[in-house]
Amino acid sequence: MTKGNIMKVGIIGAGTMGNGIAQVFAVAGYNVVMQDIGTVQTERGISMIGKSLGKLVEKGKLSSDERDAALARLQTTTVLEQAATDADLVVEAVFEDLQVKRDTFQRLDAAAPPHAILASNTSSISITEIAAATKRPAQVIGMHFFNPVPLMSLVEIIRGIATSDETYKVIEETAKAVGKVPVEVNDYPGFISNRVLMPMINEAVFCLMEGVASKEAIDTVMKLGMNHPMGPLTLADYIGLDVCLNILEVLHSGLGDPKYRPCPLLRKMVQAGYLGRKSGRGFYEYSANA
Ligand code: NAD
Repeated sequence: MTKGNIMKVGIIGAGTMGNGIAQVFAVAGYNVVMQDIGTVQTERGISMIGKSLGKLVEKGKLSSDERDAALARLQTTTVLEQAATDADLVVEAVFEDLQVKRDTFQRLDAAAPPHAILASNTSSISITEIAAATKRPAQVIGMHFFNPVPLMSLVEIIRGIATSDETYKVIEETAKAVGKVPVEVNDYPGFISNRVLMPMINEAVFCLMEGVASKEAIDTVMKLGMNHPMGPLTLADYIGLDVCLNILEVLHSGLGDPKYRPCPLLRKMVQAGYLGRKSGRGFYEYSANA
């Protein structure tokens, strides 16, 4: 069951991303310990994995034996140190908050074996800054998966200023071993994905605010004219308007260029609690079971 140097993987956070990441590692043959702050969260994570694996079996993408083997490789805990002890790799997917990430990495650094690599799934926080909370910055790296993790093939691998070539190589191989396509990125605000995506979404909101066109027209142009699977305003509703605003603030402050200033309409919508699908209203309205 050895995959290169990595055998045992700790996953910190059992939410949307954490349970998806735990699933792909378990399916690929790694022993996984998934940690969250309470059993409510870990049980919800396991239940999401069960449902997701069930769908893969229904679609014929996984046999029921493979599903059972993956579930057998998966353990949970509410104690962070237990997920790190004996781990060769830890992937962190807790809340997008610098202080929470720094505290988490400090504890992981103290608990994980000296050879272990500590990875973060952060969307927008500096890997270099997270790594500075540890005594092993050469072994800290970004592993940015996309939602839903079992279906999306990309992983952005982000090299902090101190990340070693060896760490990068191990993580590149590991990303391939879990069936993903790795892309190497240096640590600058927004990496590639959000640096390119968020200004497009922001510009779409400016177009709406300035009355250039209706929301439907803006989305239709990008969908049919650019062959995007969905328009930018629909996509923003999926991502969450608060998440979009937060990432734009990171780009704006981190790169210091006014071109990243968040659109006032986006800010106003977040202030109103119009956060997109999760709140039932964003640029569009959603019924509870939509
Ligand atoms: P989420 O809210 O669904 O899950 C976060 C989980 O972390 C929760 O279950 C929470 O209880 C747990 N948690 C919080 N503090 C913790 C701690 N100190 N120790 C252990 N667990 C803790 O969030 P998510 O969408 O899964 O996002 C997690 C990370 O992944 C964030 O950094 C986010 O930016 C990033 N990310 C999210 C997406 C996405 O589309 N949702 C995509 C790529 C990356």
